[in-house]
Amino acid sequence: MRIAVFSTKPYDRTFLDKANEGHGHELVYLDARLTAETAPLAAGFAGVCAFVNDKLDAEVLQLLHAKGTRLIALRSAGFNNVDLPETERLGMTVARVPAYSPHAVAEHAVALVLSLNRMTFRAYNRVREGNFSLDGLLGFDLYGKTVGVIGTGKIGLIFADIMHGFGCKILAYDPFPSPDAKAFVEYVALDRLMGEADIVSLHCPLTPETDHLIDSSAVAQMKDGVMLINTGRGRVIDTKAVIEGLKSGKIGRLGLDVYEEEEHLFFQDLSQRVISDDQFMRLTTFHNVLITGHQAFFTAEALTNIADTTIANITAFESGSGTLHRVAADKIA
Ligand code: NAD
Repeated sequence: MRIAVFSTKPYDRTFLDKANEGHGHELVYLDARLTAETAPLAAGFAGVCAFVNDKLDAEVLQLLHAKGTRLIALRSAGFNNVDLPETERLGMTVARVPAYSPHAVAEHAVALVLSLNRMTFRAYNRVREGNFSLDGLLGFDLYGKTVGVIGTGKIGLIFADIMHGFGCKILAYDPFPSPDAKAFVEYVALDRLMGEADIVSLHCPLTPETDHLIDSSAVAQMKDGVMLINTGRGRVIDTKAVIEGLKSGKIGRLGLDVYEEEEHLFFQDLSQRVISDDQFMRLTTFHNVLITGHQAFFTAEALTNIADTTIANITAFESGSGTLHRVAADKIA
């Protein structure tokens, strides 16, 4: 099948080419992010392969459909960037990678917790400059602290497991508590979690209910000096409210792998450009904020699984057999 692969990076090419061995799809790699302006690049391609910051709104989908695209193969688990009702109206199939390495994301969330707690990212620079002062590097024992996990799916439960290993107490909030949760995971109401957790970590998807879940009233409910970690989706946090929380000291440490306006920033080298997102730049001025550019998924195991499942989805769509991890507005396979 001919597939236009948008937002391609060199590593995508390496892993997809390897996964495609034996399948024989014609993969055409495009650097461009998918938008209404770049959609014409996919003219004549039966399939489009897209990543998290590609835009698949109604306008883009109609442009793709008019030029023959019938399959959207997402290289991600999340599909909040796709107008699903529009794909159904147009009769397009959307496939995703339901799970590639929940360990990768959970472990990165833990890396943010550890770095922020002991300020290793500041220590690294200091030591290189011959500054061995410890002022400003004071951490706290994780042992005995309370961790609030919002969203106990695949990633949230692994994160809970690891933090429990440090000796933390685990509180969780999820409208659909998991039967796989271990006995030490105590499900509580969201406001209790907010009020008792020393560390709050977000592992829920972006939905109308979780859009700006962390707003100013949620911040107000949190413990003074709380550590807030987001490896879920940027819009789960109202960045303005969190900046106010940092300014007042309510939020003591903030670790982000995702940001609500990240599609204009992440996955590209902007070091020679002026960044015009003042809100993002304000975040980078805080000494107690650690931001990574949506890299939590970025392990060799995850990239292998993403590529293998994406190619298998394309083959299943084309042949009508095998497992197609289809996303539908009302049903997820
Ligand atoms: P999952 O589907 O296994 O789990 C999501 C959980 O969130 C489910 O248990 C669900 O019931 C729960 N949930 C739904 N609505 C909720 C709400 N209003 N409040 C609290 N919980 C709610 O998904 P997963 O594989 O664990 O991934 C979680 C999220 O992590 C994804 O949706 C995606 O946005 C994000 N993610 C980020 C990266 C990254 O690189 N940073 C990579 C993969 C996934």
